[in-house]
Amino acid sequence: MTGTLTNWAGNITYAAEQLHRPASLDALRSLVADSSRVRVLGSGHSFNEIADAGPDGVLLSLTALPPSVDVDTTARTVRVSGGVRYAELARRVHEHGLALHNMASLPHISVAGSVATGTHGSGVTNGSLAAAVREVELVTADGSVLVVGRGEERFGGAVTALGALGVVTALTLDLEPDFEVSQHVFTELPLEGIDFETVAASAYSVSLFTDWRRPGFRQVWLKRRTDRPAPDFPWAVPATEALHPVPGMPARNCTEQLGVPGPWHERLPHFRAEFTPSSGAELQSEYLLARADALAALHALDAISDTIAPVLQICEVRTVAADDQWLSPSYGRDTVALHFTWIEDTGAVLPVVRRVERALAPFGPRPHWGKVFTVPPAVLAERSPRLDAFRALAGELDPAGTFTNAFVRDVLHPLP
Ligand SMILES: Cc1cc2nc3c(=O)[nH]c(=O)nc-3n(C[C@H](O)[C@H](O)[C@H](O)COP(=O)(O)OP(=O)(O)OC[C@H]3O[C@@H](n4cnc5c(N)ncnc54)[C@H](O)[C@@H]3O)c2cc1C
Repeated sequence: MTGTLTNWAGNITYAAEQLHRPASLDALRSLVADSSRVRVLGSGHSFNEIADAGPDGVLLSLTALPPSVDVDTTARTVRVSGGVRYAELARRVHEHGLALHNMASLPHISVAGSVATGTHGSGVTNGSLAAAVREVELVTADGSVLVVGRGEERFGGAVTALGALGVVTALTLDLEPDFEVSQHVFTELPLEGIDFETVAASAYSVSLFTDWRRPGFRQVWLKRRTDRPAPDFPWAVPATEALHPVPGMPARNCTEQLGVPGPWHERLPHFRAEFTPSSGAELQSEYLLARADALAALHALDAISDTIAPVLQICEVRTVAADDQWLSPSYGRDTVALHFTWIEDTGAVLPVVRRVERALAPFGPRPHWGKVFTVPPAVLAERSPRLDAFRALAGELDPAGTFTNAFVRDVLHPLP
């Protein structure tokens, strides 16, 4: 393939002139061993240069490798190859009467690319998608295959690794028994006077949406497990028709609502696999901070709502349970994630992104690695308590920096 290759949103053009698609593990290993600079492109749903290999680098896709999804019903695990997307993984897992603990808002994204950036869904007891990973298989810079499992010292750096340690050729994930979810949408939840902890814990997965055009939340999405008690939600009004969270977008793109129970993988994502997720013409940013600071952070955003609203399509508030991946934005703290779907005008959006970052700075937010942010590398380093451990691991597994790009260099070697 030659010509211009862009990410899903179209705001990033990858510098590499060619996308290499090795068709076997051996071909992949040789390509890596013979290259001085390599990056893997997953499904391209990140909004920044994280996947870019630079002009002299080899940009790799795993889509020509045989896809595999091997479910072990006895061990309740699944081994999934590096190019597979959540839609396919979830369908196969469900066929075996099993489930993933959570999903992101869309099933279109690759598993390896998602866990590499700390991608998450919502739920106070639900860790990020990386929390389900129990083993990762990597092709490292010399072309050899390395398997790192949970419990090993290096595992803390191996999953949410920004593609900086090697090519992830397979992941083994924990599964649980199949469950059903019913999705209930409410409208107009006030911000004033809410008990955020109670609201966030009122269903298995809770999302709050606001446009910041007036106080409070326009929609609340509750994803209730049908095998668990369903507390009342008296603070907002039940919707009487299906809704899309982005104003003006059709509800048919969304997973079924109005309380109709269905399998976990057809309710946990907001968007159906066969439709465009979100609005399609957009940029995204997201900041993750301690859940205990959620209300204070929301009030800080409310104070600059006049600046945010003109370039915003929708803002989503979710929660993520603490995890132990060193570079995870939800590392070591129960987290609230403040997400922004912006209009697709980078020039208009960036000044507002900086303003949001200033407003949230007192809460030490960590940006989502796959979205638009301007937090300087030295500040990112201050907010990444295990950066030194990750830097040492990258130095050990990739001493020549084969899997480094400009984005990773900023993260690993921040200038003061
Ligand atoms: C419409 C939309 C909705 C979204 N919703 C959510 C959401 O609900 N929650 C959330 O947290 N995020 C969300 N995101 C962000 C998205 O989940 C992340 O950007 C994620 O990383 C995308 O995965 P990808 O495969 O497309 O990654 P890419 O952008 O292709 O790559 C991301 C990183 O992973 C690396 N990588 C990919 N595959 C491999 C591999 N096999 N081996 C080594 N490295 C690899 C790449 O090199 C790069 O560093 C959303 C994005 C979009 C466009």
